[in-house]
Amino acid sequence: MMQLDALFERLKFEYLPDQLEAVCEHAAKRRLDYPDFLSKALETEWAGRNRQGIESRMRQARFPAVKTLEQFDFDFQPSIDRQVVRNLAGLSFVERAENVVLLGPPGVGKSHLAIALGVKAIEAGHRVEFQTLDQMMTRLKRAREENRLDRTLKQLTYPKLLIVDEIGYLPLSRDEASLFFRLVNRRYERASMILTSNKSFADWGEVFGEQVIATAILDRLLHHATTINIKGESYRLKEKRRAGLLKSNPSPGATPPNPPSNAEKEEQADLA
Ligand code: ADP
Ligand code: MG
Repeated sequence: MMQLDALFERLKFEYLPDQLEAVCEHAAKRRLDYPDFLSKALETEWAGRNRQGIESRMRQARFPAVKTLEQFDFDFQPSIDRQVVRNLAGLSFVERAENVVLLGPPGVGKSHLAIALGVKAIEAGHRVEFQTLDQMMTRLKRAREENRLDRTLKQLTYPKLLIVDEIGYLPLSRDEASLFFRLVNRRYERASMILTSNKSFADWGEVFGEQVIATAILDRLLHHATTINIKGESYRLKEKRRAGLLKSNPSPGATPPNPPSNAEKEEQADLA
């Protein structure tokens, strides 16, 4: 028989060798039969590889922060149907190359939910990429200047899920809008996108410079899509209000020291 170490090396087992002793102990204690022991050992190796894959895909995704569905307080945002989000978390939209659009004012959790769904997709083994629309435009324009737009558009079809955040904060020129259209068109019915916007679809004409391109973009995006329209208060504002209340400890019924109008101004400053 070949030496175990040599077999591990040839089979490129990276995680089981270090855990073998523990796995054997476990098997002895539980009196596992041979097939169960083998399952346990292979599962140990697989778990290590999977963990490494998740870590590397998380790095590739370039999330600005890691957010999870478990961290999301649905009670705070009752306009969101949690069943819809739960269904999305099952990721059949990714399998079917469908899109998700999250609409709503600043601070209601659009980016949080987009990232959280991205994390789920990564855990399920999919490649994910996150970009703001602004970053995406910079990338596409640079690629065109350097005569490699086609290659870049092709690369942008590789991730199973592409998240484009913050549509609507900065209006696009006609030229930029047609670049974005090319991206949407490339991914259409091939791979999923999650888009977030503070503007309703009716205002996308303004965002994309003109109605014709906006209509063409929406036509493809929404053909197979789930739209979540979040109508509610900013979570950032809530946290600020609460911080204000806690600091001064007002008597019941007193006006908070941080009136909403001020907090709202801060919210705007946050965005800048
Ligand atoms: P948006 O993208 O809609 O402007 P974000 O997703 O960036 O808002 O949310 C703002 C901040 O508040 C983030 O730190 C986010 O994690 C947090 N947040 C928003 N909504 C919730 C919520 N319902 N539960 C927990 N955290 C939330
Ligand atoms: Mg956001």
